[in-house]
Amino acid sequence: CLKRNNNMVKICCIGAGYVGGPTMAVIALKCPAIEVVVVDISIARINAWNSDQLPIYEPGLDDVVKQCRGKNLFFSHEVEKHVFEADIIFVSVNTPTKTCGLGAGKAADLTYWESAARMIGNVSKSDKIVVEKSTVPVRTAEAIEKILTHNNKGVNYQILSNPEFLAEGTAIQDLFNPDRVLIGGRKTPEGQKAVQTLKDVYTQWVPEDRVITANLWSAELSKLAANAFLAQRISSVNAISALCEATGADVAEVAYCIGKDSRIGPKFLNASVGFGGSCFQKDILNLVYICECNGLPEVANYWKQVIKINDYQKSRFVSRVVAPMFNTVSGKKIAVLGFAFKKDTGDTRETPAIDVCKGLLGNNASISIYDPQVTEDQIQRDLTMNKFDWDHPIHLQPMSPTTVKQVSVASDAYEAAKGAHAICILTEWDEFKGLDYQKIYGNMKKPAFLFDGRNVVDVEKLREIGFIVYSIGKPLDP
Ligand code: NAD
Repeated sequence: CLKRNNNMVKICCIGAGYVGGPTMAVIALKCPAIEVVVVDISIARINAWNSDQLPIYEPGLDDVVKQCRGKNLFFSHEVEKHVFEADIIFVSVNTPTKTCGLGAGKAADLTYWESAARMIGNVSKSDKIVVEKSTVPVRTAEAIEKILTHNNKGVNYQILSNPEFLAEGTAIQDLFNPDRVLIGGRKTPEGQKAVQTLKDVYTQWVPEDRVITANLWSAELSKLAANAFLAQRISSVNAISALCEATGADVAEVAYCIGKDSRIGPKFLNASVGFGGSCFQKDILNLVYICECNGLPEVANYWKQVIKINDYQKSRFVSRVVAPMFNTVSGKKIAVLGFAFKKDTGDTRETPAIDVCKGLLGNNASISIYDPQVTEDQIQRDLTMNKFDWDHPIHLQPMSPTTVKQVSVASDAYEAAKGAHAICILTEWDEFKGLDYQKIYGNMKKPAFLFDGRNVVDVEKLREIGFIVYSIGKPLDP
């Protein structure tokens, strides 16, 4: 299946982002007989993929790219040329939440997908397998089929759904050793042949029993449902963390006990300041919208609650910071350690740090931010961006330039904390566990507060130093 007229099979991936780049790099590494070209309309992004400074930070990615780039892995902005030549076209473009029009604030914006599909229809002269790699609403393949078949010039298209389950920060590990690879296709003979072709790609390195085949709609819906379940676990443990703080229970102990039940399992039960990232919120909003469109308001309300608890957790964190600091942080310096939505990534999309920082700035604090992988430009952009509030679908005002002046970006944790009244840990970077907190304490205003939004520090040790420590879901005294 992997040879075409004795030539190498050619894969083209439209979209060189967090998913397209790493996924295709791993396919190229594991399938030397396949030529993989990743294309993007962003010339800057493609140039970065072709340089030593890759556009995204992901442990192990540099190594994989270095091994195959220029051999069977290429990055190009000549989108149409490579789509024309490809046998299999992955589409991994962004599918953000719509910001205006029908479904604004909830539905997925498929503009990028539609334009990719129309371009495929325009340039293709040979049969193509078109793979949905992006996360899309259930039954998107139907709309894509319509675009392609109504623009048909004798080309046979097979649409497959192959959603990506990698997690940022562990993307390469996840791609090397996935829990499962899901391929959805039509149950027709042509559809099943296309499924088999894609299966032959993955089984070059993924054990066959981990490659699941399903119908198109099940595959599309599985991705939304999987993200909703993951986010729901976080909101569930975060909801319990609020009760722990109110009652003196310890959320770590409670989560440990819950996770020991083999029906529940221990993963994804860490209480925190909240989930972030480009996917969880947008995919749940999309699920909510699909439920509403299908006349299922009660189901929609159930999933909405996952996001409401997440928003509540972030605002609860801000209140917890302000309250013990004599109920005001006005004019006080607060060090924010970590801005990325999780460790081992520089991605700040939907990071809880944005809402927490905005909450602190709204209380007139000055904040000094340090994150090992996030740039000053990203922070300034994120803190000035409009936020869409889905319950009140109007754009909130962007931050004023004066407010932005309350923000500084530090080159390390020590600089961020110098002269600060408090530290807020918002990302679980390993380096925050090993800091010299004695030294940090010495350079802070007293009393020195530490609010751990990721439960990474050794509370007892820090209390011995003199810090007043608040952790998520932990009692204030033994
Ligand atoms: P991204 O924004 O990093 O990358 C998307 C890329 O597509 C951008 O570089 C953009 O320039 C390019 N693009 C858009 N329209 C194009 C077009 N018509 N032609 C060529 N290039 C085009 O997004 P991402 O994080 O890689 O996510 C892509 C999809 O994968 C989304 O649907 C997302 O929900 C899904 N997903 C993301 C993750 C994740 O962890 N980021 C995990 C699983 C699934």
